Amino acid sequence: MQVLAVTPEIYPLIKTGGLADVTGALPLALGQRGVATRTLIPGYPVVMAKFKKKKAATQYSSLQGGKASVHAVKIDGLDLLVLDAPHLFDRPGGPYVDAGGKDWPDNWRRFAALSQVGADIASGALAGFVPDIVHVHDWQAALTLAYMRYGAAVGVPSVITVHNLAFQGQFGASIFAELGLPPQAMALDGVEYYGGVGYLKAGLQAAWAITTVSPTYAQEIRSPQFGMGLDGLINSRSTDLFGIVNGIDPEIWNPVSDPYLVGKYAPTAPKSREPNKRAVEQRFGLGRDKGPIVCVISRLTWQKGIDILAGVVDEVVGAGARLAVLGSGDPGLEGALHAAAARHPGRVGVVVGYDEALSHVMQGGCDAILIPSRFEPCGLTQLYGLRYGCVPLVARTGGLADTVIDANEAAVAAGVATGILFAPESGPALVQAVRRMMTLYADRSAWAAMQKQGMKSDVSWDRSAVKYADLYKTLLARKAA
Ligand code: ADP
Repeated sequence: MQVLAVTPEIYPLIKTGGLADVTGALPLALGQRGVATRTLIPGYPVVMAKFKKKKAATQYSSLQGGKASVHAVKIDGLDLLVLDAPHLFDRPGGPYVDAGGKDWPDNWRRFAALSQVGADIASGALAGFVPDIVHVHDWQAALTLAYMRYGAAVGVPSVITVHNLAFQGQFGASIFAELGLPPQAMALDGVEYYGGVGYLKAGLQAAWAITTVSPTYAQEIRSPQFGMGLDGLINSRSTDLFGIVNGIDPEIWNPVSDPYLVGKYAPTAPKSREPNKRAVEQRFGLGRDKGPIVCVISRLTWQKGIDILAGVVDEVVGAGARLAVLGSGDPGLEGALHAAAARHPGRVGVVVGYDEALSHVMQGGCDAILIPSRFEPCGLTQLYGLRYGCVPLVARTGGLADTVIDANEAAVAAGVATGILFAPESGPALVQAVRRMMTLYADRSAWAAMQKQGMKSDVSWDRSAVKYADLYKTLLARKAA
């Protein structure tokens, strides 16, 4: 089976969030099941720097305002199709924002171009490659399915994965004329959305199947509270809606061999995490004591509930926990956390920035990872936490609810608990959860048992890859019928 994936990010080349982890890991896991994936990605500078251009697989004399070409390359075991379009992608800054953090004003054009090329490849533009399935990720690739639907690739089965419904790619109606779609596409059952053009909406409408990254989130987005205005459409497609939890790369996230760790350790010996804990204390300026360190590794945003945490830091510290926060995002939240650190020297440490290496050391040394999200499509940091014996302390929502087993009395007695869940997403509930954690932590053998149980959880891609492969097969069977 041949799959064409289309994505704006892929680990290890370009990553701003969990989406990249998924698109980077899934092809490798599917490869072991006879599913070959080629992934179309934009030729950002960091991607172009990874290979020498040879003969293009296909070329465009004009693609959304400039010349473009597609290059077939293998990088880090990934079979990539890189869209080289300098007028769209050769610029500094992030994949979606300029160096000042502002969205590129032509994002609609950049990702329409990516999508157009995706649809061309779906219809056989590359010699010797006829995809059986097209699998697109998030709004940046979603328009692929509209180009397919109104073009030559209309009969190719397709999947759209929504990593976060909050990001929808909503633009004014004036761009429609430049998308190259036929006039009938500007309709309620096409790309039209609240009077403008909705990229994610168009993809949800056209996809054969819709997946999101956990079963609970798949249910949640059918409600007005989580549906972000798309719950009506998603409900109308509920028979084609699936929730498949993400996995993690067990090679990269392996405490036995993780090169970032100060001290490596086996799942059977969580005590050997100590050197990492000392390193975290040093890096975050935390005083040494016997109590637990709770960490946060996150975008600092409202979605992640960081404002909830900022509002109760004093109570969290009062309960006896130390806090190490790594993240960046909302400047107001960064300021609130810095202020909390200043109020609690030696008890609260904050590092603003994105630091992959430090995030590994924190998972390897902290006692718990706090994720107070208001909504969480899947979440990856709790999965790393499970694997590293860094006990998840998480809001009961989305993928967090699907992957962590709460340490209630029955679960502890049965030896199946892997973390602490709390609801609702509020300051008092968070503080209550921290107090519960302190009680559990005080019973050292019970805590170690919970760590070990978490480290035994299957958080690899294997199970999820089987589900994606099964979904692909179902769609192929539907096509044949
Ligand atoms: P989201 O994609 O919504 O940001 P996820 O939990 O799905 O949240 O994925 C976040 C990913 O980014 C994880 O791999 C996490 O370790 C990483 N991450 C987030 N913030 C930082 C940071 N400041 N430094 C290093 N890694 C981070």
